[in-house]
Amino acid sequence: MMLRRNFPKALCLGLALIIALNILLAFYAKGSLQSWLLGGLQKNLPRPLAEWDEAVIKRLSHMELDLQQMKEAMKLTMKQHGHVDNRLKQPVELVQTETKRKSFKKLFPDSRLFKQWGEGLSEGEQERAQKLFVMFGYNVYLSNQLPLNRTILDTRDPRCLQKTYSSELPSLSVILIFMDEALSIIQRAITSIINRTPARVLKEIILVDDFSSNGELKTSLDEKIKFYNKKYPGLLKIIRHTKRQGLAQSRNTGWAAATADVVVILDAHIEVNLGWAEPILARIQEDRTVIVSPVFDNIHFDTFNVQKYALAMDGFNWELWCRYDSLPQSWMDLHDPTAPVKSPSIMGILAANRLFMGEIGALDGGMLVYGGENVEFSLRVWQCGGKIEVLPCSRIAHLERHHKPYALDLGQALRRNALRVAETWMDEHKYMVYLAWNLPLENSGIDYGDISSRKALREKLKCKTFDWYLKNVYPTLKPMHNIVGYGRMKNTLDESICLDQGPIPGNTPIMHACHAFNPQNVYYHLTGEFYVGPLIAESRTEDRCLTDPGKGEKPTLEPCTRAAQHGLHIYWDFHMGKAVINRATKRCLEIKRNPSGTYEPVLQTCTTQVWKIQHTVRNWG
Ligand code: UDP
Ligand code: MN
Repeated sequence: MMLRRNFPKALCLGLALIIALNILLAFYAKGSLQSWLLGGLQKNLPRPLAEWDEAVIKRLSHMELDLQQMKEAMKLTMKQHGHVDNRLKQPVELVQTETKRKSFKKLFPDSRLFKQWGEGLSEGEQERAQKLFVMFGYNVYLSNQLPLNRTILDTRDPRCLQKTYSSELPSLSVILIFMDEALSIIQRAITSIINRTPARVLKEIILVDDFSSNGELKTSLDEKIKFYNKKYPGLLKIIRHTKRQGLAQSRNTGWAAATADVVVILDAHIEVNLGWAEPILARIQEDRTVIVSPVFDNIHFDTFNVQKYALAMDGFNWELWCRYDSLPQSWMDLHDPTAPVKSPSIMGILAANRLFMGEIGALDGGMLVYGGENVEFSLRVWQCGGKIEVLPCSRIAHLERHHKPYALDLGQALRRNALRVAETWMDEHKYMVYLAWNLPLENSGIDYGDISSRKALREKLKCKTFDWYLKNVYPTLKPMHNIVGYGRMKNTLDESICLDQGPIPGNTPIMHACHAFNPQNVYYHLTGEFYVGPLIAESRTEDRCLTDPGKGEKPTLEPCTRAAQHGLHIYWDFHMGKAVINRATKRCLEIKRNPSGTYEPVLQTCTTQVWKIQHTVRNWG
């Protein structure tokens, strides 16, 4: 699970942009840099050796960290035993350290860890904090010092506090899956669950270790489990995978081991908030076919401050990447901030009636590493007779990592898993996923695994079509059926550069060295529009259309629907290997060298320049 909010549209757009930027940055930084740098390196090394070296280095640095962590854990335990409420003591200590230490040099001025945090740390402390940060993607150094039972902001609407619940709620199994998370993080999750769940409903907490290599998650964790179980007999269980199985399969492992009426499947880096469980149990008791998503708040990866997120619907785009959508009007009209919100999807974390989850086939264990499983499950739930709701009174603080230590480039796993979803569930609309990922519609070369058993499940459950889902559950997503050419757009004068949406914010397309990321996606429609940039294809945000402003030589990108309403010149004649001519102004899109010698797109009287687009669709007349 991952993304953000929605209410005010501007905020939504802003966040979408930030997220897009982040993804971009991540892809640029991790994807392209990694493949340029590492790709070059790894090509020269025999692969198994490179991997082996990496594994050894990882393990050695783990060992070193494990030792340091043990030392710290001991210090913390002593501290926590010494002071029942060490929260009261900490601020004083911090003030003292700050005055004493102000003069230390900043060793990592560019690290995100130290942007809002770390004032007054000695050089050794900074080094250690940075090392842990790189390894885990969050501030383990700080986590190791914070109380396990810390108080977090109660982010519920005040009306939630007036709700009462039956004394006969169903029993609950909580599943925490993890792979190389910090021990203190897992302990804080467990502590929050124990402290904030009524003991009479909490039957068990099942930990699923997806083959972690982090040493403190072995004997140290086992000891902690023993310690908890002394106090709460039989409460904690642990299952350890003997090879990495990815998060979908880890969630399934936990579900299969669960024995209570209701299962809640969580990430390990969470803290449940006050009263989180009761709304879930009551709603599932009322209707066993409801899959519940709590509302997420964000634990900042650097400061561990909890930021309240507003309520939203869990949705996804055509890459099947999750996002938040604004609340439906029908819900607003209820004027009840505690009412369940019908939601097209889940983010990953979920609660379900244990048996119902089995009846509809649990999660698709064929999803590898990360992503896709939430959308697959969501489509299946809706198309096969269940429903999904976000419950406003159930709140969980979730740590959004700065980076994922288990995969530097998630794009490949996301894309592969997205195709699996598309091929199983999306019928004639599956092409939208190929278009969004800029893949050829036939022979994509991507092995999405065997889906025959998922298709058989769809038959067995007599599920509805994806078209039904779009019309009845997620009308915001708009499939497009008149795209005839898509992919990279190149002028034959120089095929190493591609048409690109240019800097954001901004609406000036540029020519840029070709790369594999979606700012260079172009979609040509039979009706004449050129969409430039990531495919949006939904009703609330608009794709951006290549436009001839009528004067000057620079083309612009304008929101398509509004541009059409205002009569802007967004329609172009184009065929593969031919000129791109604006239908209204008759000017051509061409490229011209600017004074610094690089090409830029211009609008001018047509010369002989022609363009190629990467993929074509059969019905291009
Ligand atoms: N995880 C796992 N196996 C994997 C990758 C992730 O068990 O191969 C766990 C991870 O430790 C976390 C959960 O799956 O508890 C969800 O992953 P993550 O938090 O990275 O996803 P996000 O919340 O960012 O979408
Ligand atoms: Mn997570």
